[in-house]
Amino acid sequence: MTTSTKRNAPKLTAKERVTNQMIKRLEDSISNGDPVAPWLKPWQADRYDVTVPWNPISKHEYQRSNFILLSIMGTFHESNMWSGFQQWSKAGYKINKGSKATNIIRPMSFVDEKTKGTDEEKTITFFKAESVFNYDQVTYAGEGLDPIIVRYAETENKKPRSWNPIKRAEKIASDYIARENIKLNFKNVDAAFYATADDSVTLTLQENFKSSADYYDTYFHELGHSTGNKSRLNRSDITKNYSNNKACRGREELVAEFTSSILLSHCGITDFETGKNQETIDNQFAYIRGWIEAFKRDSSLILDSASRAIKAAEFIEGV
Ligand SMILES: [Zn+2]
Repeated sequence: MTTSTKRNAPKLTAKERVTNQMIKRLEDSISNGDPVAPWLKPWQADRYDVTVPWNPISKHEYQRSNFILLSIMGTFHESNMWSGFQQWSKAGYKINKGSKATNIIRPMSFVDEKTKGTDEEKTITFFKAESVFNYDQVTYAGEGLDPIIVRYAETENKKPRSWNPIKRAEKIASDYIARENIKLNFKNVDAAFYATADDSVTLTLQENFKSSADYYDTYFHELGHSTGNKSRLNRSDITKNYSNNKACRGREELVAEFTSSILLSHCGITDFETGKNQETIDNQFAYIRGWIEAFKRDSSLILDSASRAIKAAEFIEGV
């Protein structure tokens, strides 16, 4: 996939230049002791317009058996919104007298004490019964107007953000997913992810993204993860260790975001020199810096992830 002339050339490739710029900024900001800026989710998905059961307090969408159970129970209620007693109370709602709770199961996870703080950190998951109440079983007792009604009205009036697709980015992405037979799903969910199980990328709806740069950043990030699939660059960080090893997950996240950073710059969507779409660059930086802080600023991790990302970006572009 790489050519030897490229490897031997003394000049940096465009991809190396981009990662070097990001690395330089990381090193400067770490040595200056700059505070870590929070990463901002590049989309905003509101669930008020859909019929699937969800939790308006945590913004969580119920999955699997809870999804089925609450969908059925929802037919006896007026709303698709459910939340636990404590969550409703904290948010200023009181449960109406005589309301019956619905029982669901909640996955809980904690870090295995024996592996805590090590590279082999493991997460253990178990299930706990939990009672939830429907929105039509509660009454807002806090100050001002019911925030759910207020948010609902805002969502109703919200115009989808519109922006033009960027041809070069579309071509890189669509050529790659067609060549590799990767499934691409758009759903009105508050999430974006790559699933190894069925080799698919799921993105929230395009209109939920704040800008085209943010959209392609997220899209390329998830495509970056997909290059780690067994049939491609075979990175064990995503194929085996992602969910139970924090160090592997962190390194994989760095690879995905560096990949996105390279591709955005290559498509001319961002530019480190002119500051084009600086907000997106800053957010990529915040994401990467956030993960690096979790690893005590290990510089070998930065270089390792950056070189993996160059390979991932070349793979996506079919270089
Ligand atoms: Zn990721």
